[in-house]
Amino acid sequence: MRKVCALCGRETDILIEGLCPDCYRKTHPLARVKRDVVGIVRCPSCGAILYRGRWVRDPKVIEKLILESIEYMGRVTNASIETLSLRHGLNTAVVKVRGSVHELISDYDEEVQVKVRYSEELCPRCRDMINERERAVVQIRSIIPMSGQLRRLIIDIVRKETIKDERSGFLRVEDVGEGFDIKLSDQGLARTIAYKIHKAVPSKVTESQSVVRGRGDKVVTKLSISVILVPLTRGSVIIYSNRPYYVLSYSQGTFKLMELGNREVINVKLGDIIKGNVAVPSYEARCIENQGLKALEIVIGSDRYVLNDMC
Ligand SMILES: [Zn+2]
Ligand SMILES: [Zn+2]
Repeated sequence: MRKVCALCGRETDILIEGLCPDCYRKTHPLARVKRDVVGIVRCPSCGAILYRGRWVRDPKVIEKLILESIEYMGRVTNASIETLSLRHGLNTAVVKVRGSVHELISDYDEEVQVKVRYSEELCPRCRDMINERERAVVQIRSIIPMSGQLRRLIIDIVRKETIKDERSGFLRVEDVGEGFDIKLSDQGLARTIAYKIHKAVPSKVTESQSVVRGRGDKVVTKLSISVILVPLTRGSVIIYSNRPYYVLSYSQGTFKLMELGNREVINVKLGDIIKGNVAVPSYEARCIENQGLKALEIVIGSDRYVLNDMC
């Protein structure tokens, strides 16, 4: 009697539940992923991996975590990770599973894709060690949301100053959303970094010391440096004291601003900008021709301003 597969219609020697081996395999996967995403958390300092609530200093647990997320639906003789990259965020691991889903089908390979979310976090041991050594923190904050370019500039300065003279006082940078906390064991390096940033971006720097522990000669202090950035340059459009302004220049702690409404130019100290309410409106700026002259047109919502000779 001829055996025909119910799915693909091919003639076949072996029929399993009405299907040829190929179709049976297709409809009966050998393995499936139990969890949507496998989380891998690694300590950037010592390389330990978080495994079932414990930090394990054995890189093999990465493989374990991934393979444990796979459920086998047949007889499996081998499973191994084919490709895996661990970049921050979502990655895909390809796992090769060898075996068979039915005794009438000989062993074959099947690929399973496992989504892996990779992140880094200090393990408690390293965190304690770093906290023990922490002698300075540089807190970088901005009065307006930081652009990607500004963030890169800050990180570049930290990197450059840390590499210079192979100083080992740098511990880590924490991204705190509205800015960065730079933790160091070297107070001198903290000052250098703070003032390099201060030179690169209009900002206000304040220092404070606090006693961490000890007394008399054995006192251990911690230096906190606050750097408040006012990242405005010529061409920035801001709302200051509820009025729209065009930033003309910055020098020696003072911004020159032109009020868009009446073209009046005023000088405002950096400290006053920090104290006042500054916001960046959503606006459009473009060069136009105005009575035969080049002019800058700035549109904020329904308000339109034309600045002659500014383009
Ligand atoms: Zn078939
Ligand atoms: Zn660690």
